[in-house]
Amino acid sequence: MIYFLILMKKDLMNILVCPVCKGKLTLTIEKENEKEIVSGSLFCGKCKVRYPIVDTIPNLLPPEKKS
Ligand SMILES: [Zn+2]
Repeated sequence: MIYFLILMKKDLMNILVCPVCKGKLTLTIEKENEKEIVSGSLFCGKCKVRYPIVDTIPNLLPPEKKS
């Protein structure tokens, strides 16, 4: 999964969309450094789904496709 290899840089917010509805994601930052968001979450208000960011890596797997 290529998503796991992408560091969560703030610039990425312009291209990251919800994998389910392709809608905009709302970013919540818990911890960040100069370049990257270390931990937090991306929330899709449409799907009511929260995608966690752990150790700078966003997990954008749709919840129903855990594999
Ligand atoms: Zn969505």
